[in-house]
Amino acid sequence: MFKYIKPAFLCIMIMTICLLSGCQKKVNTANRTEEVLGTIITGTIYGTQNEDQLMTALDAAFDRATELEAIFSAKLPDSELTIVNESAFSAPVKISKELYTVLESSLYYATLTGGAFDPTLGNLISLWGIGTENAAVPDSESLEAYINQRNYENVVLDKNEQTVFFTSDDFSLDLGAIAKGYVADEMKRILEENYDVTSALLNLGGNVITIGSKTDGSPWNIGIANPDEPTSSITTISITNQTVVTSGNYERYFEEDGIRYHHILDAATGYPADNGLISSTIITDSSIDADALSTATFVMGLDTSMELIEALDNVEAIFITDEGEILSTEGLSFR
Ligand code: AMP
Ligand code: MG
Repeated sequence: MFKYIKPAFLCIMIMTICLLSGCQKKVNTANRTEEVLGTIITGTIYGTQNEDQLMTALDAAFDRATELEAIFSAKLPDSELTIVNESAFSAPVKISKELYTVLESSLYYATLTGGAFDPTLGNLISLWGIGTENAAVPDSESLEAYINQRNYENVVLDKNEQTVFFTSDDFSLDLGAIAKGYVADEMKRILEENYDVTSALLNLGGNVITIGSKTDGSPWNIGIANPDEPTSSITTISITNQTVVTSGNYERYFEEDGIRYHHILDAATGYPADNGLISSTIITDSSIDADALSTATFVMGLDTSMELIEALDNVEAIFITDEGEILSTEGLSFR
């Protein structure tokens, strides 16, 4: 009997049934939390795929994070970064495309910020040991050797050969201020390209990246930590498909004689940066850029940072000063 029904009539019938029964597919969710690269990563993804499919997608994104940890970790004794640090002074070392990409970006930001972001502070970071049991204020003599070295100028990349070479053996690389951003971008890429995920929120220890919007079409609301009470938010911003990365003096530190020594070091002094900012947040499309810039602006202080960020396309910032003032770039909608 169906073969006698006209196609147009069939269409109208299907549309009517859909309207009556609510043909919209149910939105499912998958969640996962795991420690990778010394950071708690939480991922939540949404979609009309079934829960198993969503979980498979999220697992693939976390697998990518673990793969990248084996490249960028400054702690793992056999990470690619550790091997480069041990051998790149003797001869150029062939490196993975991932390490090459992050190093290229690191050198770009080191130059752009005059060394406020400096990927070659590995030895200085170890000397302070912030975040380890051995954290202590180094004596000024041992600090002397690390001040104003601009060793990023001694890192030579060869694009054709995909190698890195150190022209001095006075330094080691530490990519702790940028690798998490790259991991966030890569997790997002896997979810979008391989699994068609259109709505997700990933939080890598305060380094947030989103895919699309919430499933009702509204933007994500991201809280900016209150430096004095980091478990609560001092303000909130709304984003769609963007990333929000904060560097703060509350993330990792120790205290001695009432002074807080935090983990973001200023290569110009050898000490934790103390240029008037206690929190620096970058909002943009790519998390690798946001991560490098959040660290750099924290070191540079308010005025220079405001000037730098206003000069960059499609990058916004929120700065909190040690006086408790919250300032933002012109383009931010919450102003
Ligand atoms: P972030 O939390 O992204 O600001 O990164 C801070 C981490 O980056 C530290 O724990 C160090 O491993 C490393 N680091 C510290 N100071 C600097 C700096 N001035 N430039 C680049 N990396 C840094
Ligand atoms: Mg950073």
